[in-house]
Amino acid sequence: MGYFGDIYDVSKSILTGMGVTLKYFVNPKTITTVQYKRPERRGEGELHEVPHLPDMHKGIHYLETEECIMCWQCANICPVDCIVIEGTRDGEVEGAYQGNRANLTRFTIDYSLCIYCNLCCEACPETSTCIHMGKEFDFTSYDQGSLVKNLLTDEKFTKEDLRFTTNAQSKIEELAEEKKRKAAEAQAARKAAAAAKKAAAAKKAASTPDTPAKKD
Ligand code: SF4
Ligand code: SF4
Repeated sequence: MGYFGDIYDVSKSILTGMGVTLKYFVNPKTITTVQYKRPERRGEGELHEVPHLPDMHKGIHYLETEECIMCWQCANICPVDCIVIEGTRDGEVEGAYQGNRANLTRFTIDYSLCIYCNLCCEACPETSTCIHMGKEFDFTSYDQGSLVKNLLTDEKFTKEDLRFTTNAQSKIEELAEEKKRKAAEAQAARKAAAAAKKAAAAKKAASTPDTPAKKD
């Protein structure tokens, strides 16, 4: 295309763009830009628009903690490894959150990594179905470290939360050791009982006189 052809194309493109601007100028109701302000930037009583979210909107997750069986299915399927779950089924941990037969000390999602694919929710077993993608979308921050959500408190994951999970870890390991020790003791007891039973049977057999053979 020649020089004048290029001028024609550029002019046409500018006029098309200006036509769209003019359309919204004369009929502002069709504007799709939403004047939304983050809560911390909103003045007292200041009006702001709430975006319309479609029914299928997949936003920030929430967890029905009491239904969670701590099976790690959601964390295992996550393609970007942004779910961290810690806890125990071996006993009580002070300050832990009560799941379904599980004590949860950490359940976080890092939103600097999450791609909102919904796989975690689909992997959650039918018996629990406790992790969901909600309507919430405002989980923003100026620093990457604050983009981790604590699903146990429904708030950002704080330094105190991290301190709690770190301290709880030693208790979790202690409970696991205790469980292992008890299982080993129980197995040893079972083995000893079986050996004693066998020895008693052998002794009984040795002390029983042979039955005389039948005469015709
Ligand atoms: S939505 Fe996808 S990326 Fe985000 S936590 Fe779930 S599985 Fe991971
Ligand atoms: S898949 Fe569901 S039940 Fe299992 S750990 Fe995740 S949220 Fe809990």
